[in-house]
Amino acid sequence: MIITHCYKIKPTPEQSVKIDYWLELLRRHYNYALGQRLDWLNRTRCQIDRCSLISCPIGEISRLPDYYFQQSALKQTKQLFPEYKEIYSEVQQINLQRLDKAWKRWLIPDKKGKRGGRPRFKKSGKLRSFCFSRVNHPKAVIKFDGKQIITRRFGAIRVIVHRQIPDGFVIKTATITKKADGYYVSFSLEDKSVPSLISTENIKTTVGIDVGLKEFLTTNTGETVPVPNFYRKSQSNLARKQKKVSRKKIGSNNWKKAQNRIARLHQHLARQREDFHYKTAHKLVKEYNLIAVEDLNIKGLAKNTKLSKSIYDVAWGAFIEKLNAVAVKRGVLMIKVNPHNTSQNCSHCGHKVPKTLSVRTHSCPKCKVVLDRDENAAINILNKALCEVGIILPACGGLDIDRPVKQETSLFEKLPL
Ligand SMILES: [Zn+2]
Repeated sequence: MIITHCYKIKPTPEQSVKIDYWLELLRRHYNYALGQRLDWLNRTRCQIDRCSLISCPIGEISRLPDYYFQQSALKQTKQLFPEYKEIYSEVQQINLQRLDKAWKRWLIPDKKGKRGGRPRFKKSGKLRSFCFSRVNHPKAVIKFDGKQIITRRFGAIRVIVHRQIPDGFVIKTATITKKADGYYVSFSLEDKSVPSLISTENIKTTVGIDVGLKEFLTTNTGETVPVPNFYRKSQSNLARKQKKVSRKKIGSNNWKKAQNRIARLHQHLARQREDFHYKTAHKLVKEYNLIAVEDLNIKGLAKNTKLSKSIYDVAWGAFIEKLNAVAVKRGVLMIKVNPHNTSQNCSHCGHKVPKTLSVRTHSCPKCKVVLDRDENAAINILNKALCEVGIILPACGGLDIDRPVKQETSLFEKLPL
């Protein structure tokens, strides 16, 4: 299992200047390497409806400037621009590896046939971090002694260790990041032992969760967690700060300060949301052995809706990721089910009751059951998950004893009859 711990660091003014300088140099190099690749692409490709005479490469087509090519060119860079000698080569290599990743994400589709956007040139201040690939290794250039990170070129930088590195974990990499309110180091920590998941016989408490915009989440027993609305609450504050920026001269010191205030507010919002997510996740994981959630297509939801502000506030995708991480850590089983028809079907008899988003209650004409819309969906989600794992828990998960899990019904519902 790999986890990341992030700590604030307190560099001296000289050290901060040096970190900023490194980031700037790395940014320029990143842009140069990206330009080199794009140039190669332009010179070797020609649009299908054009006469190839216009864009035929002159001379020999050079080899694709791939990662290995660019890595071996680092030596030359150092000769031409001696300031790059100062930066550890492993840091520069990782910088190039990041570009290589972005490049491949753009050109090579993943399993689902999706590709990323074209890697962009980074504007001033937009490259915010650099990474060391080894920590506390005999050959590593960076050491962490529990109180400070030590590199020969920076000296010692104090780390505010607000929580200890957990037992059994080894520090793999360290990344130094510049954020709106200062500098941070994040360690990726690895524990070789595989956490054991709870076996199906031991599952006693189960819960199905439906996420929504009216309530952040609804469980199959009808319990709800409200939407926190952090973003909506700070909107006027944000607007005020944005207005202030617009009055300042672009690029001036006061403009930069005003920009930083906005960045800090965004950081604050992100932290609030993260905190809320973790608290909710821990609460669920503490109470239940099995958690069933929908496998949502968040991207499709956030597009073209008036609700995108609320969606920004709830960030279910990020929540489900955190819930998953917390569940794995505690050995709790989390199952993602296909959300198809979970809000339409009756959780009691399986009859399909079509309803639009505005209809908030589920009332079944067949078995006369009346439930909250989200609660009905949550029960369906739980049933689907239990069906997947192959357990029948008649009295658990908030289902009444006289309402056993209808496995056959839900199976039939899956078949396109
Ligand atoms: Zn029904």
